[in-house]
Parts: sequence; C-alpha cells; structure tokens
Amino acid sequence: MSDFDFDLFVIGGGSGGVRAARVAAGEHGAKVALAEEYRMGGTCVIRGCVPKKLMVFASGFPAAMDEARAYGWQVTAGAFDWAAFRGKLDAELDRLESAYRSGLKGAGVTVHDCRAVLEDAQTVRLATGARVRARQILVATGGRPFVPVFPGSEHVITSNEIFKFDVLPESVLIVGGGFIACEFACILNGLGVKVTQFYRGEQVLRGFDLEARGLVAEQMVAGGVDLRLGADVAAIEKVSGKLRVKAIDGSVADFGAVVYATGRVPNTEGLGLNEAGVTLGKKGEIVVDAWSQSAVPSIYAVGDVTDRINLTPVAIREGHAFADTVFGGRPRQPDHDLVASAVFTQPCELGTVGMTEEAAQKAGPIEVYATTFKPMRGAFAGRGHKVLMKLVVSVETRKVLGCHIVAPEAGEMIQLAAIAIKMGATKEDFDRTCAVHPSMSEELVTMRKPVRMG
Ligand code: NDP
Repeated sequence: MSDFDFDLFVIGGGSGGVRAARVAAGEHGAKVALAEEYRMGGTCVIRGCVPKKLMVFASGFPAAMDEARAYGWQVTAGAFDWAAFRGKLDAELDRLESAYRSGLKGAGVTVHDCRAVLEDAQTVRLATGARVRARQILVATGGRPFVPVFPGSEHVITSNEIFKFDVLPESVLIVGGGFIACEFACILNGLGVKVTQFYRGEQVLRGFDLEARGLVAEQMVAGGVDLRLGADVAAIEKVSGKLRVKAIDGSVADFGAVVYATGRVPNTEGLGLNEAGVTLGKKGEIVVDAWSQSAVPSIYAVGDVTDRINLTPVAIREGHAFADTVFGGRPRQPDHDLVASAVFTQPCELGTVGMTEEAAQKAGPIEVYATTFKPMRGAFAGRGHKVLMKLVVSVETRKVLGCHIVAPEAGEMIQLAAIAIKMGATKEDFDRTCAVHPSMSEELVTMRKPVRMG
C-alpha cells in the first residue's frame, strides 16, 4: 500500500499545469490532483492571450469600416458598446473555463478549487487545511504583473484589470514598451480611447529586430497612439476622479486610467518553496534543469513560474514533456530553440522567429534580405501603412537564421515560416519555393539580392 495519496499533485490550473495533469492522468494512467486558487485556465485564458485577442478583433473594426468605405461600401459606424462586448467576453471566458474543467474531469484528475502550498518535498497543504501526499509535485503557478513602487503607484492598474472596466475611460496612459504595453496601446486606441504610451528606452519592443520595432512604432504613432520615448512616470495623484501624472521631464497631464505593463514576475511567494529546498533565481523564478526538475528531485516546475520563455505554447510543451518523461516512460526535454511569437499590434502585427539582425551579426557573417512596401489591400484603400518581410541568412551555412514580418496577420504567417526555419531551411530553399500570388508573404520567396551584409 503506497503512503502517497496521488502520483502527481499539480499546483496551478493554467496552460502548463492543466496539460501536464491531463496527459499524466488521461494518457499515462497516473493518479493526479490539481489545485487552482482562482479560475481554471490561468493567465492565457482568463486575463491574457484569449481576451486580449478578442479585444484585438473588436478594436480592428473602425479601420476595417474605413477600408470598406474606400472599397465602395456605404458604411456608417455607430458607437462601440463596451458593455455588450464585455458581456460576451465574460460568457466566452466562462465557456472556456468550463471546457478546461471538463477536460480535467474527463482525464480523471481530482480538482481542488483552493490555494495549495508546499509543506515538504512530497506534501501539499490545501487552504482547507487538508494535507495531501504526492510522489511528484508540479508547480505551475505562472506569473503576475510587476508594478514598480513610486508615489501614487497604488492608483495604477495592470493588464489583469483592463478587461474589467465598467466604462471605457476617455484617456489612458500606458507605461511600458513590451508585448503587453504595445498590444493594449493599439487595442484601446482602436476602441476610441485617447492613448498615451510612456516607454523609458529609445525604442519599444526591446529584444525584437530593430528594423521591425521601428516600423511597428511608426505605425502605432501614425494610427494615433501618442508614444513618448525616453518617458517615465515620476508620481501620480488622484484629482477629481482623474489621475494626474507627473512625468520625469516635469510635464503634467490627466488621464482616466494608468495601465502599467512593465513586465511580469513569477508567482512563487508564500508557496513554501524555500522551506522545501527549491532553489529560486533572481526574479524569484524556480530554477529548473532541462527536464523541468527543480533542485528537489520530487518537485518540478513548468511555465512562467520558471521564467524561461514566457509564452503559453511553451508552457504547454513543458507540461507535456514533463508528463511523458515522468509518467509515460518517454523521456523528452521541451525544445526552447526557434520559438516563434507574435506581437498583436495594429494595423500590423509583428511576427518573429529566430535571430534578430543585430544578434545574428554578432554570431557570424550574414546577409539581410528585406523589403518594405504598401500592401495591395491597404494601398487601394489609400491607407499608408507599409509591411516588412525580412530574412536574416548565414553566409556560411546559407541557413535562414531569422525571419521578421510586420504585416496584418503576421502572426499567422510566421507560424508557417517557423516550420521551414525549424527544419533548417536555407535561403535557396526559400528561393525554390514558388510564390503564392498576389499575397504579401510571397516576398519571402522572391527577394533576390541582399540589402545588407553584416
Ligand atoms: P515585457 O518584459 O515584454 O516588457 C516590459 C516593459 O516594461 C519593457 O518595455 C520594459 O522596459 C518596461 N519596464 C520594466 N520595468 C520598468 C520600470 N520599472 N519602469 C518603466 N518601465 C519598465 O513584459 P510584458 O509585461 O509586456 O509581457 C510579459 C511577458 O508576457 C512577455 O515577455 C511575453 O513573454 C508574454 N506575452 C506574450 C504575448 C504574445 O505572445 N503576444 C502578449 C503579452 C505577453 P525595458 O525594455 O527598458 O526593460
């Protein structure tokens, strides 16, 4: 008779934890329990990727209606009904949450709707007071928004609250220049909110290809976002229902809301990790090896709590690989190489995979193939935005090291380019692929001469 209640106890019902629990129980026959203190589905489903993408769709209609008029349609846009949209959004999130729940139930996972913390390497204590013994424990508690402390920081909100506005504010200040800041600047701008964005550095989207960042920023500004570079907040005070923001350059302006999108930190506080002997890194992340195993052999961790690549599909892969390795007799490590991603800005998204031009240059001699042009659809409608198709190629191996696309639906395009690049495609493989015409992405296979060598 085993002295364990479960083979696996998962803390956290987000993308990584749910995948691991379902695969371990449903496919590999393990006895699994999972605890989630908030809503099943985690950041991605409840307050991240999913509601964000639906808001991207909602916010794109004014531009689509302008375009429709340019194509000869007689369209009159009414006002945006935020309450109606939010009601539908809430219903959709409820539906997805229950789908996650029934997936777990179907796999035979025991679900605890409460917080769980570690008591020791193989014991979990639930908020109900119950103690559960498990052979293995998986921590998949994700992350949360980080807000720096400054005078008035208690007045700001984060992406967690952005879906919960009762009424959309007239004006918003967004602070930050990463994925979340740029995406929400475009979303709120599209929904008719007057958006100002402060970014402390020289150009938004640090870490992405410089040329692509520049084009995205240019379009955000052209679209109506008041983007201030080298700008930061010094203090905020509440004055007659508005937030009065004093910037570091001394300027003062009032906003209906201030949204901080200044990065995220791993959710490791108060989980009993130190006590159990788990090693934490500088940001509080759980330090794991390539198998997602922590310093304590019975404790594993996947997803944002490990601060490797903080993207939903990566967490899912990590959770799946963990379950196959530990319960399925199929040892495999999650692959963190050449992970594609997309920033859902508007009118153009930024899709990217592999090395930026700047990083590749440091690694060896490269050729850069790039073209910017006004796409047919927008050009016909008299819209000025350009798109970018860019390949970074190794001179030595001819392999395409990086692909960067700034275009409407770049997120869809980069997924397919990523397959070729992951397979090790060379520039010549791209060249011998016949173009799909007329399309924007055909330029990826028709660029003949490098624009630069590096
Ligand atoms: P990011 O790390 O992408 O960006 C944080 C931004 O905040 C940076 O511009 C950073 O500036 C700035 N910043 C950090 N600290 C401060 C500070 N104290 N004062 C002022 N500015 C500051 O984080 P996000 O919150 O945007 O996103 C978190 C993660 O979530 C992403 O890294 C990504 O992995 C994931 N995500 C993915 C999405 C997608 O796939 N489409 C969408 C949304 C999130 P600096 O550059 O100078 O450091």
